[in-house]
Amino acid sequence: MAAAANAPDLRSASLEELGVLVERMGEKPFRARQLFRWIHHKGAGSMEEMTDLPRPFRERLSRDTRLTTLAVDAVQRSSDGTRKYRLRTEDGKFIEAVYMPEEPGPDAFDPEADDEDEPGRKRARRTLCVSTQVGCAMGCGFCMTATMGLVRNLTAGEIADQVYRVNADLRDVPGVDPQRPLTNLVYMGMGEPLHNYVNVKRSLDLLLHPEGANFSHRHVTVSTSGLVPNIQRLGEETRVKLAVSLNATTDEQRARLMPVDKKWNIAALIDACRKFPMKYGRRITFEYVLLKDVNDTDADARRLADLLAGLPAKVNLIPYNENPGLEFGDPGAERVQAFRRILEGRGFAAMVRKNRGRDISAACGQLAVAGQKEAPIRLGARA
Ligand code: SF4
Repeated sequence: MAAAANAPDLRSASLEELGVLVERMGEKPFRARQLFRWIHHKGAGSMEEMTDLPRPFRERLSRDTRLTTLAVDAVQRSSDGTRKYRLRTEDGKFIEAVYMPEEPGPDAFDPEADDEDEPGRKRARRTLCVSTQVGCAMGCGFCMTATMGLVRNLTAGEIADQVYRVNADLRDVPGVDPQRPLTNLVYMGMGEPLHNYVNVKRSLDLLLHPEGANFSHRHVTVSTSGLVPNIQRLGEETRVKLAVSLNATTDEQRARLMPVDKKWNIAALIDACRKFPMKYGRRITFEYVLLKDVNDTDADARRLADLLAGLPAKVNLIPYNENPGLEFGDPGAERVQAFRRILEGRGFAAMVRKNRGRDISAACGQLAVAGQKEAPIRLGARA
């Protein structure tokens, strides 16, 4: 008999919570660790896979608990190695996760490319961008996900399971280490991570756990559009890195693009960044989507440098990936380089993020939005 939808979800449970559950079931304490490793180290997709657990225990687990597992609904593959996954939740919602492989190099997309622990970044990175919500409430004007509104928060298990489903898909890919298909995580997919703080924090605890997927905090970045109170909380309660999606240099500009600015303006946001604990070698990445004739002038670049003065910051410039149905344009390579030169002239590390997967629906939310509308997509398109 299948467990009820409201049965406890093993995928979202901490090792300690599994310990309590196992004890209640009259099992030996070491079973909790075994279970946790199956779920988070091996990324098991079902209880049947947990072959070294006694059958009666597995049957009882199947009856009384759930193991949230996402279904891979569609994969788009780009010629640059990017893979975009549309994943279906158990209640039939679509989310997306984007895999971005990068060889070492100065222009690689990597929020912490210049880590103190890895000067010059000698190794390839295989990064997954994960979603934290179905849809998003933040309403950013340049974002496809915003057009969905917020449908619901993802659970910690659903956030973590994006990693496990993608790991399973990547293990056979040439050049990918099957023991560690993904090396880095960025919480920059659908949704505002700090608007789903509790589940995001729990998912970080699961994904960074040494008995689980064991990601290093140095290789995990959480991005926010500017939910100021939770920036402080993230800084106090975790050791992961922070990215801020800034995208404008005046409140007038930013409030038009990002309604969150009306609640927490640029001054409040930068103040929260200045108070963010910078121990553990952290520095803040500022994401700046360059929109043609909106926020891409030399004056914008100079104001951006003024705003960030004195902060341990780096800037990721992201030329806008044009979306059908949204009114913004790509500023072009020349303007992007001019913007970058001004920042570098003021001493900032500024990198231009390559637009990954130009030949697939790689802009945030594009694939999942298509899924919610049941639009046909190209499956497994190889360029
Ligand atoms: S850019 Fe991010 S925060 Fe803004 S609406 Fe899109 S998903 Fe939400």
